[in-house]
Amino acid sequence: ENAPVTVTVTGAAGQIGYALLFRIASGDMLGPDTPVRLRLLEIPQAVKAAEGTAMELADCAFPTLESVDIFDDARKAFDGVGVALLVGARPRGPGMERGDLLEANGGIFGPQGEAINAGAASDVRVLVVGNPANTNALIAASHAPDVPADRFTAMTRLDHNRALSQLATKTGMPVSAIRRMTIWGNHSATQYPDVFQATIGGRPAPEVLDQHWVEHTFIPTVARRGAAIIEARGASSAASAANAAIDHVRTWVHGTPEGDWTSAAIVSDGSYGVPEGLVSSYPVVSREGRWEIVQGLELNEFSRARIDASIAELVDERDAVRDLGLL
Ligand code: NDP
Repeated sequence: ENAPVTVTVTGAAGQIGYALLFRIASGDMLGPDTPVRLRLLEIPQAVKAAEGTAMELADCAFPTLESVDIFDDARKAFDGVGVALLVGARPRGPGMERGDLLEANGGIFGPQGEAINAGAASDVRVLVVGNPANTNALIAASHAPDVPADRFTAMTRLDHNRALSQLATKTGMPVSAIRRMTIWGNHSATQYPDVFQATIGGRPAPEVLDQHWVEHTFIPTVARRGAAIIEARGASSAASAANAAIDHVRTWVHGTPEGDWTSAAIVSDGSYGVPEGLVSSYPVVSREGRWEIVQGLELNEFSRARIDASIAELVDERDAVRDLGLL
């Protein structure tokens, strides 16, 4: 049995939190041999709801769940944290401008970055799910100067999984036959799901897929899938978002399979022309518990233009939060 890991989840009483906590507690994220100490962070109004979830967690009697504690104070919630899942964020309200949204989230992710800086374990892993996820991760990282930047990430795994699923459905192949799919850029409508590096059943995806379908059906379907689910379900895609968060952390801890890669938004080292320091999605492998950007891919003109557009949006968001004094 491994040493216990402290996992802090923010926004724990929300929809994604409800879909996420039980899977963390059951061992889906860190494996059956790693006991989990759950710490739930909520705003004071939602603490009671978090207590209800904690009662249900207790009633599952998971062998891997060592403890559950609830906090409304980030400093306490992140004390000793090994895995931080930052899910709680300020939703865009009616009439709210983008600047207001960025500012409200700066007020959440700045202090949480400081709390992680103050109390986290030396090998902490941070995944930001709350939107705008890439820029929220940038804000948190900038408030944690003692934590290496490569410990801060944002989630594009759901976009990645959505892309795999669309390709599998289109080609009649199992998702396991699709490799080297990449999401580039921002977790937003400008994200670029890149099939040009992918293989399907061992064949290069561009040989299997029609370019018109890729451009006019596949890319918009992946980018707008969240809205389609809200329209169909009347509620947002909480379970698949929680699943992707589990996938992201599990891959980060346990590694990517040989011959394949995945997508994650990580702090750029300048690779592929993305300005250093931006939190951008890349093709990544995980080796010995660290993300590495897959190097040496040749990008065609179409891909380059799409990536550049998404990067331009990330630059705008960064400049906006910088102007607001949030970095
Ligand atoms: P959800 O649990 O549904 O969503 C939480 C965040 O995840 C939102 O920012 C949402 O973005 C984002 N997200 C990322 N990917 C997805 C996806 N595929 N589908 C849906 N959402 C996605 O929100 P709730 O409102 O149910 O719960 C939020 C909770 O956070 C509340 O309980 C609130 O009290 C809490 N909160 C806690 C804070 C803290 O701990 N300090 C601070 C702020 C809030 P989007 O808005 O774009 O859908």
